[in-house]
Amino acid sequence: MTFSDLGLSQALVKAVEEKGYTKPSPIQEKAIPHILEGKDILASAQTGTGKTAGFTLPVLQYLSETKHPKYRPLRALVLTPTRELAAQVYDNVREYSKYVNIKPAVVFGGVKPASQIATLRRGVDILVATPGRLLDLHAQKAVSFKRVDVLILDEADRMLDMGFVRDINKIISFMPAKRQNLLFSATFSKEIKKLASGILRNPVEVETARQNSTAKKVTHKVFKVDKKKKTEVTVKLIKDNNWNQVLIFTRTKHGANRLTKNLLKAKISAAAIHGNKSQAARTKALKNFKDNSIRILVATDIAARGLDIPLLPHVINYELPNVPEDYVHRIGRTGRAGAAGEAISLVCSEETEYQNEIEKLLKEKLETKIIEGFEPTDTAPPKRAATQSKSSFGKKKKKTNANAQNNSTDNSKKNKPKRKPHFKGKKPANTSGRGRTGAPKKKRF
Ligand code: AMP
Repeated sequence: MTFSDLGLSQALVKAVEEKGYTKPSPIQEKAIPHILEGKDILASAQTGTGKTAGFTLPVLQYLSETKHPKYRPLRALVLTPTRELAAQVYDNVREYSKYVNIKPAVVFGGVKPASQIATLRRGVDILVATPGRLLDLHAQKAVSFKRVDVLILDEADRMLDMGFVRDINKIISFMPAKRQNLLFSATFSKEIKKLASGILRNPVEVETARQNSTAKKVTHKVFKVDKKKKTEVTVKLIKDNNWNQVLIFTRTKHGANRLTKNLLKAKISAAAIHGNKSQAARTKALKNFKDNSIRILVATDIAARGLDIPLLPHVINYELPNVPEDYVHRIGRTGRAGAAGEAISLVCSEETEYQNEIEKLLKEKLETKIIEGFEPTDTAPPKRAATQSKSSFGKKKKKTNANAQNNSTDNSKKNKPKRKPHFKGKKPANTSGRGRTGAPKKKRF
């Protein structure tokens, strides 16, 4: 099967060939023909499967083959949960549209809106956007959704997690009822199906991977280690193996900063990427990591969502996530586009429960080892930790995840007595994760 066999035009085929793609990935093979036919799609695809080209190529074909008024109203809108993902999708759209007469643009928060407004005013065919900034621009009349023919929700599960559902519905309310809708999501949960049923019409369901499955070529390893030894072990792993490109996940922003500082002290080049960093700092850290100017990128879950770093060989979970699905998202950063990868988790006694939940979700046991010289000494999980972690994995896991992020900021800002990371998932008495109106709080990372 070739890209031409899928019905794509020569101009688009030429652009993907220049990217070095020799044949369509499974998601592209399954989704592209349906999208070209104008059908709605509900696609469950792992990160790293080539889903971006899966929706971008047929939409570009539609846009380039359809007449539009001279003033170029917006005709296709891609919504993404994070700025980084928006920037990445936009880069792809630009590359794939090299040989067609299409004007793409991107808008996201964290930067001044003036140049975004100017770009939109000049006319844009396809826009990649994060929901918050897009609504701000719409309120300023910088963009209209009245001529939108195709709506794409990328990483819809994360948009739900981040409380964007009201923004999404508001944006949709300004669009024509008759349009094509494409919903892409890493997981195919009940919540996603509910969102989908309100937006999609007779969608074709495209599933390329088992729910919550991890990339096939990724090897998982767990090293049992004392909490206070984790930094030392991280440095040892990087130095002994001479790893040059490692993405490390911490559970909190504060933890990401602390680890980055310690890596720099150990003469390992590193930068942190999280919600408290400016957009310029985030972009610079990602660029330096991608072009190998730095060896390590330390990230929190939400900041890392959507990062496309081709052929990333190693991911280290400095701490396990307190929401098991996040493990799948994290390790989706390695073994991308069929390449082999290694996911290493440093697990202390307090995190045993998290490991169990992850194994339950993956339906497989993670290979667990002990590093010589770093044998764990505190093996029994403290009583409170065990009780607490249960609630983190309970039904309210999404809210608790949001609280975990908020708490990390609060703790570092207000200098409150430090709580252990696994307590951060606890739902405090009066903070339900919702605002006064009952609307989910938005978190823009
Ligand atoms: P995505 O899942 O869209 O984030 O894509 C993951 C990576 O796969 C990106 O680096 C793409 O450039 C790459 N990719 C997308 N489609 C193909 C393809 N057909 N063959 C090889 N690589 C691809």
